[in-house]
Amino acid sequence: MKLLLLSDLHFKSRGISSIPERNSEFGLEFLKRVIRRIKDEKIDVIVISGDLIDDNKNIYAEEDYIEIKKVVQNLNDKKILICPGNHDLRSDKFKNFFGEYKFAIFEDFLFYVFYDDYFEGDICKRNYEEIENFKKIIIENPEKKIIVIQHNLVYPKIESDYPFNILESEKIHNFYKENNVFLSISGHYHKGLDLVSKDNIYYFTIPSICEEPFKYFIFEIGSEIKINDRKLKNSAEIIDYHCHTEFGYCAEDVNMEKVIKRCKIFGVKKVYFTEHAGQLYLSPDDYWNYKFFNYPEILRKQRENKKDRIKEYIEKFKSLNSDMAGLGLEVEVDKNGNLTLIEEDRNFFEILVGSVHYLPDEWCSSKKEMEKYFLWSVEKLVENKIDILAHPFRFFFRKNIETPKTLYKEVVKILKEGNVKAEINFHHYYPEIDFFKMCVEENIEICFGSDSHNLLEVGEFSEYIEFLKELNL
Ligand SMILES: [Zn+2]
Ligand SMILES: [Zn+2]
Ligand SMILES: [Zn+2]
Repeated sequence: MKLLLLSDLHFKSRGISSIPERNSEFGLEFLKRVIRRIKDEKIDVIVISGDLIDDNKNIYAEEDYIEIKKVVQNLNDKKILICPGNHDLRSDKFKNFFGEYKFAIFEDFLFYVFYDDYFEGDICKRNYEEIENFKKIIIENPEKKIIVIQHNLVYPKIESDYPFNILESEKIHNFYKENNVFLSISGHYHKGLDLVSKDNIYYFTIPSICEEPFKYFIFEIGSEIKINDRKLKNSAEIIDYHCHTEFGYCAEDVNMEKVIKRCKIFGVKKVYFTEHAGQLYLSPDDYWNYKFFNYPEILRKQRENKKDRIKEYIEKFKSLNSDMAGLGLEVEVDKNGNLTLIEEDRNFFEILVGSVHYLPDEWCSSKKEMEKYFLWSVEKLVENKIDILAHPFRFFFRKNIETPKTLYKEVVKILKEGNVKAEINFHHYYPEIDFFKMCVEENIEICFGSDSHNLLEVGEFSEYIEFLKELNL
């Protein structure tokens, strides 16, 4: 059985937390990012142990719950357990939103979430009815291994003026012992605590996901508990060479300010905005009809008619005044092998990321033809002095054609001669490990490009870092 554990989102969609370490504004996004990461992992159970919101007196508290609920509702193939914390709405109200996540059975395991009571000064006390309800449930489900979830700590005891532990915690521990509890999960103590055991009961305290480095956990429970701790913050100092903006027609919710904010939070040292040049010169209609390819003169026409958006793009970037960001473009080639760039504009940009997105159908009449024109495009990009080849073979991936490995060698040679970097890019695509191994052997520089069109992609480099490990870098 595989569990995902996270806690203390402290979400607050509007306004900030009274405690600056809590990135409350991002509470919901942290949850979304974790869910996005585990999408290909077989997780059976998800546990969130309280403080979903930061401020239960905030008038948007219920709206914020609705947003959180929307995210967890999409996970209905998994068992979900959510408990209220001292920052949440009181039990009766909390139940209206998350009551269905109070109890679950998965295989040999029975999960029970305690709704504890809170009093003045965040004093936490177990509720008598809850104890009775728990007893009833375990009698109805004999011979299950029991996992309990509550916000406050039962064990170990935290020495502090602030009440991290629940009242009568020793009594509760004894009660757990009598009732064969196997594992007890809590949150509340934002630093978190390692797994400990007392009288054969495991206790685990999940750190808060809203404080750096934004940790969450995967538990594999078999004959023993295997713990895998993860964090949303990148440990290495990363440069993102490929990020889209509000100027992109295919952009979802990215914009320059929001991207920079996330880069800061998730540990990206520098980000390059590289909007599709063709989209900056052309209207959406003309771009999506590939007029930049078939009628390259359209770029200058647009400029003459003052219809292109290059200037706006540059002005917007300048207004950010951020040393964390650089400005570039994602360029393509036209039918003559020239870049989708008016030559005198080049000086405005620090980097050019070159891509093969499109070849006309008549150039793809056979596999051989397609491969020939693909290579021609790469050659032309490099001849025209791009800095980075973006998503090197995604063209084939998008066409649902197996990547022709026979081209690797040729592309490596072109990149090497042109001194062009190869981009690792996971945007709707899996980079080809064998190609990148060849790049490493030939000392071709490898770089990261998130190719973010959506804010959830910004600063999200866990797959990239794993990929580097596979390359022994
Ligand atoms: Zn908390
Ligand atoms: Zn692209
Ligand atoms: Zn792109």
